[in-house]
Amino acid sequence: MIPYARVAIYSCLVNLALMGIKYFLGEISGSLALKADAIHSFADVISSGAIFLGIVISARKTKIFPEGLYKVENLVALLSSFFILFAAYEIGHEALLSPSDTPIFNVQLVTIGIILIMVVAALFSRYELKVGLEVGSPSLVADARHVKTDLLSCLVILVGIISTYMGYHLDRYVALIVAVIVAQMGVQIFLEAVKVLLDATLDYATLDGIRKILESHDEVVEIISIGGRNSGRFKFVEISLTTNLKRLNEAHVVTSEIEEEILDRYPNIDKILIHYEPEHKNVEIVATPLDVKDDESPNEKSSISQHFGDAPYFAIIDRDFSLKKVSIRSYMENPFKDVDKKKGVRVAEFLFEHAVDEVRSRVDFEGKGSGYALEAMNIAIVTTSANTLGEMIKQMGRNLNS
Ligand SMILES: [Zn+2]
Repeated sequence: MIPYARVAIYSCLVNLALMGIKYFLGEISGSLALKADAIHSFADVISSGAIFLGIVISARKTKIFPEGLYKVENLVALLSSFFILFAAYEIGHEALLSPSDTPIFNVQLVTIGIILIMVVAALFSRYELKVGLEVGSPSLVADARHVKTDLLSCLVILVGIISTYMGYHLDRYVALIVAVIVAQMGVQIFLEAVKVLLDATLDYATLDGIRKILESHDEVVEIISIGGRNSGRFKFVEISLTTNLKRLNEAHVVTSEIEEEILDRYPNIDKILIHYEPEHKNVEIVATPLDVKDDESPNEKSSISQHFGDAPYFAIIDRDFSLKKVSIRSYMENPFKDVDKKKGVRVAEFLFEHAVDEVRSRVDFEGKGSGYALEAMNIAIVTTSANTLGEMIKQMGRNLNS
């Protein structure tokens, strides 16, 4: 778990504590405004919880995180919104119906209690803002600012309670104001939850745009799936693809590029998860350099060359994984064998153009330009102990079937 996700849990706990204290103070004083604000704190618990889940989910890179949790989170929010709206209605209803001179009890104790609440909220808001700015988490910063604005309603409630000293009875009016604020929060939580539950995926135009970006990269061989989902106000895109890059660090560089491209184009997306795996070819093409005398043509008895750029012929071999069969497809004459310069590199390019996946030979490529060229083109280099082409094909066949 990322360390700053803890702060969102603290926010949950602080709001939970505030809810309890406000409710208790509301009970002993008979202040409707305090009871209304207790429900407000309950709504805050729900939104802090959503922020916590958002941070945790956005940090996950794997599929292990159960998908159902997103739905549970939104379902909990939906049910809570009903409760919040109902409670706001009850408070508002009572504020309107009860006599405006209903007395407030324990004014001194409640005043101290509210001041204590304000101190706790102010300190926590400062702490949360500091962490939020440090780690660059917009949701933590927003939560901290919200806690700070809540201080204002505490202040208004306090004024309402102290006003009883001067013979005024403002508590009912304050309760009405708080009830309206709480109702607004309830509606907001309701709408967000419904939106997410009804529209679990991103719109078609966005998904199609992402598909086009993926298709514009040659390294992406196949797009297995593109999925979008929301969690609270977080938008995620999950992509599964196969790549023709065999080395994982290369694949990682390319997927990071793709991620940035998508985020640049669609700034409303918060996180992209790309799962990639190398493509599984059914048939791989293997090339082997052969020594063939001038008066002979290449065949299975031809010996495998210890040269690469100088080899007169290359055998092109199909290794079929689904049929579990190794067979010679053709023989290619080496067009560069009499060239003076860089013949090794040119032959490597020639094989690359013929979609060769692997060079199997008795050549030592160590430190040679042709070896680097093959590596750069993602052509695997394999050493064989076989002397003739026929022998090598038999070996490859045994490897394939073992
Ligand atoms: Zn609040």
